[in-house]
Amino acid sequence: MFPFRFSKAADERAALSAAASGARYVAGGTTLVDLMRETVERPEAVVDINALPYREIDVQPGRLRVGSLVRMAQLAEHPIVREQFPMIVQALELSASAQLRNSASIGGNLLQRTRCLYFRDVTAACNRRTPGSGCAAIGGRNRTHAILGTSHNCVATHASDFAVALTALDTTVIARDDNGERRIPLNEFYLQPGSTPERENVLRAGELLTAVEITAGSEARRSGYLKVRDRESYEFALTSAAVALDITGGTVRTARVAVGGVGAVPWRLPSVERALVGRAPSPELWRIAASTAADGATPLAENGFKVELIKRTVERQLSTIGAQQ
Ligand code: SF4
Repeated sequence: MFPFRFSKAADERAALSAAASGARYVAGGTTLVDLMRETVERPEAVVDINALPYREIDVQPGRLRVGSLVRMAQLAEHPIVREQFPMIVQALELSASAQLRNSASIGGNLLQRTRCLYFRDVTAACNRRTPGSGCAAIGGRNRTHAILGTSHNCVATHASDFAVALTALDTTVIARDDNGERRIPLNEFYLQPGSTPERENVLRAGELLTAVEITAGSEARRSGYLKVRDRESYEFALTSAAVALDITGGTVRTARVAVGGVGAVPWRLPSVERALVGRAPSPELWRIAASTAADGATPLAENGFKVELIKRTVERQLSTIGAQQ
């Protein structure tokens, strides 16, 4: 480890002031501290924001507001969230070990950095860590990397399961700085790598993520998250699918589908949703709708299997959720 300054912010003003002087925010520390140990991130100062009042879980019919300092475990254990948003609960529970879920904040989860092994190896070329240095993954080991939304500069996947579930719903990220509060639709929050993979989201320097707000109809109750991975215990997704369906009167009225493990950012699938709405549930419908899940994919040397795997993941999850009463 290297030397750095550490402080605790008693309130929002102190946190923003510390950030204006170059400090990085830390809450659970499950991402930043790891990256500092590996010297991938080398902040000169770190400010603890755990005293800030971003701790609410407010559930209203069709709406959920979660403060950014709520721990993953707290949100997953909330009885009304479990009843109304099973997709969110499953994504959280499949994300990490109990110890990590107890410590990690939901804000930190949404802002976690990629798990690309070259990003975490400071001897490797990585445009995301060191802009302009190249991308070791493109010609290297890329079995776990993305097939959608990539660029010639970066092919990393987004690591958050929770973000995939939120992407399937209508989610707004709430952020604050000295200019006031900003509300950002989640589908505009994450940035595809393009020519600037080091920019991962639209937060401004020093801006605090304070909460997320999720709105959804009755389909959120009939929802779930499927994660396909190399081993069952606490591994990142090869593919995943978040699905919510409203099936009324023998017809799919609303469909929400997003996938993980395949996109440079959490990836919504409007073509799959369109193929479902207005039709009667059937194994054939699930198969046809899921067949477009990898449209536009650009696989690499080692991850071509994800093209078929993501279609099967979506089909299986549509079938599972479609069979629920
Ligand atoms: Fe870095 Fe992205 Fe390439 Fe991984 S895929 S080495 S994060 S530039």
